[in-house]
Amino acid sequence: MPQLPEPLERLIQELSRLPGIGPKTAQRLAFHLLRTDRVRADALAHAIEDVKARIGYCERCYNIAEGGLCSICSSARRDASLLCVVESALDVLAIERTAEFGGLYFVLHGVISPIDGMGPEQLHVPHLLERVREEGVAEVIVATDADIEGEATAVYLQRALQPSGARVTRPAHGLPVGGDLEYADELTLARAMSGRRAF
Ligand code: ZN
Repeated sequence: MPQLPEPLERLIQELSRLPGIGPKTAQRLAFHLLRTDRVRADALAHAIEDVKARIGYCERCYNIAEGGLCSICSSARRDASLLCVVESALDVLAIERTAEFGGLYFVLHGVISPIDGMGPEQLHVPHLLERVREEGVAEVIVATDADIEGEATAVYLQRALQPSGARVTRPAHGLPVGGDLEYADELTLARAMSGRRAF
């Protein structure tokens, strides 16, 4: 392959680190950005900088937040006795779109996976248990994905939450087995959330 100018080579490198972007796609995107006018390219660069500088994680639930608390934790209209545990902040978005859930969340940012070095500590499970104990949570809905890791994490959490006395439930069947919660359509997700069952 002919030698590319260093900045272009570096852009291709960075793009190919993104999920789902192979070397060919990275090359195509880089050449597209090269053709793009300066204003649009700057807008993209600044959007990335702004997100990294201004968006962090909620100190209470680890959802995305601009400041200390996310918009859901800051709302006075949410039911604090109901707590939904999800794998990612994208799952929060998916459940919020159904407008069926009025409680609060806890975002694990992963699942228990010893091979990847993900244990209860990395998923903030001690913080979750503390919240359930101290905030008088009556029901914890464990809405991890319906794949092997998601199920194993749900079983782990159910056991860990048992001494708290809170009711622990799982969204009803109907979610695609092995599928990501964030990809479930709104109606399926709304049904799964309203038809949840105890372990
Ligand atoms: Zn929050």
